[in-house]
Amino acid sequence: MKEKKNKYSGNGIKKDLALIGRGFKVLWEIHPAHMIWFTVYTVFKQILPYFALYMSALLVDEIVAGAPVPHLITLAVITVGGSLLIELIQHLLARKRDELVKMSFNLNELYLLRVQCRMQYKYFDQPDTALLRQTIRDHSNYGGHGLHCLKWTYDTAVGAIANIILSASLTVSMLRMSADAELTGFLAFVNSPLSSVIVLAIIVANIAVMLIQINHFEPTNTEIWAGVNKRWARGNAYVSNITPEATVMDVYALSLPRFYQLMVDDAHLRALRKNDIHSSLINYIFRAILSIALLIYVGAKAFIGVFGIGRFLVYRGTVEKFVSGVSSLFSCFARLRQNNVYLEELYSFLDLRDEMYHGTLSVEKRDDNRFEIEFRNVSFKYPGSETYALKDLSFKFRIGERLAFVGMNGSGKTTFVKLLCRLYDPTEGQILLNGIDITRYKYDEYLALFSVVFQDFYTFAFSLGENVACEVDYDRERVLDCLRRAGLGGKAEGLKYGLDTCITRQYSVDCVELSGGEQQKVAIARALYKNAPFLILDEPTAALDPIAEAEVYGKFNEMVGERTAIYISHRLSSCRFCDEIAVFHEGRLIQRGNHEALIAETDGKYFELWNAQAQYYVKEQ
Ligand code: ADP
Repeated sequence: MKEKKNKYSGNGIKKDLALIGRGFKVLWEIHPAHMIWFTVYTVFKQILPYFALYMSALLVDEIVAGAPVPHLITLAVITVGGSLLIELIQHLLARKRDELVKMSFNLNELYLLRVQCRMQYKYFDQPDTALLRQTIRDHSNYGGHGLHCLKWTYDTAVGAIANIILSASLTVSMLRMSADAELTGFLAFVNSPLSSVIVLAIIVANIAVMLIQINHFEPTNTEIWAGVNKRWARGNAYVSNITPEATVMDVYALSLPRFYQLMVDDAHLRALRKNDIHSSLINYIFRAILSIALLIYVGAKAFIGVFGIGRFLVYRGTVEKFVSGVSSLFSCFARLRQNNVYLEELYSFLDLRDEMYHGTLSVEKRDDNRFEIEFRNVSFKYPGSETYALKDLSFKFRIGERLAFVGMNGSGKTTFVKLLCRLYDPTEGQILLNGIDITRYKYDEYLALFSVVFQDFYTFAFSLGENVACEVDYDRERVLDCLRRAGLGGKAEGLKYGLDTCITRQYSVDCVELSGGEQQKVAIARALYKNAPFLILDEPTAALDPIAEAEVYGKFNEMVGERTAIYISHRLSSCRFCDEIAVFHEGRLIQRGNHEALIAETDGKYFELWNAQAQYYVKEQ
């Protein structure tokens, strides 16, 4: 993978915050509504218990104080009605949130796919990129790291913040309350500001102990989980690759508990349990001290009449909620810091940006589609390669021509197409469209000039019509016409659900499975539907049998119409019908002309290739 300037250099909290901040930006980019709903839902979830507890306490205090019945009824109605209303809103929000959680995985996947589709082709083309994307996906799906962790931790953190704000306001009001009565001894001490300071000190001590613990245990736990997750991922790869031939015996031999042991080995589990016991024990001791101190403090204050019995219950719980809110917030932060290594992995993928120069010129909209392309002394080396895939290529062609590129495998034909479509820029030389360097045009407009069927075409698990049009609301007549021209009209009309038939049986038995040749025709129909001035077919008949291949040639002129067609093939027999044939050899264009002219050059490469392949044409015909 290429060298990248590290934007997050340096250590410490600043770097961590920058990484986390960017993660939230990515989440926002993936689905802003998600973050908004999560926040609203979580805040509402925190409000309900406080509201119910606070109102009930108020009611109890009013009853004890002997308030008039109508007042008590009003309070009861507000308590019950308010709680029901909050619960109803919370319920509706929860449904929305569940929908979003279900979509979350697909949204993340789509985002990565979108990034990959937009990245410069030189990165897309590298095996490392696919591997990196797979690693990011595994870490997120099996490990719950990266964006996954960020999202859930965000959820917890928002809850913790709401909790802290609500409980802190109650705690502060409690600490500030005192009675006006003349008191002596212990009760006078409880009523004095000093006792509030001591309670505050115990709260701070609790929080400090938790912070120390989080700092101590969270990194080791994360490390242990990373080990566990690695095993899970490997286990999963094993299970999902089970085929009857290869591993069925292993599966019979392995009982489930033993398989489980393999996935999460005991050493990891023991280490996690040990950490858990240690941290819980220290926590419980400090929590117990806080609980006892609070019980005495709040109890004594209620006893001397600072507040009623109802508030006594509220305040006791509130302080503990405050402490656990702070602890939860800090452990969220610690978890996020541990998660940063996975986010950095994600960013290294996201940063494989398009560094190609993108021009600003619009491609001329011509009614006559008069476009001329010129390759002027073009040479090209693939990134990291020492040898030229194309060398000093000069070539001109204009709209309406039928061109064939022939040559042995590796002679540079596909590379020519990649340069033409600006998947790569030439290392030397220029490519011109109507006399202007193609880099000066707007990239999307320039790309719209080409329909390409590459050898490794793909059909999607959508309907036949959607596969051709690549959109949901498509022109059915036009799709049928393209399918007919690609030689698949009869098949499409014979299908039970016509264009709405799904074309892979992977997801439904109602779907049909098309043969390799039929799929290739779908890809050709897709290229025709795009209706671009240039149609490029890279070995378009590779998956077709000789009869289907002859059918494609026979209809080629009808299929292509007014467009320019570039037809790439290493089978020379399939190129005879083209106006002009360009012969590639070791990255150079060595001959041009029509079939008759080229075959007449008996010392030329075309003649040699033609004779070498003649035996196959005889068999095929
Ligand atoms: P053809 O289409 O004529 O079979 P290509 O244009 O695919 O030939 O390949 C031309 C040369 O470039 C070959 O030597 C091939 O190995 C090399 N090549 C093709 N793709 C890549 C790539 N992604 N990275 C490095 N070299 C490549």
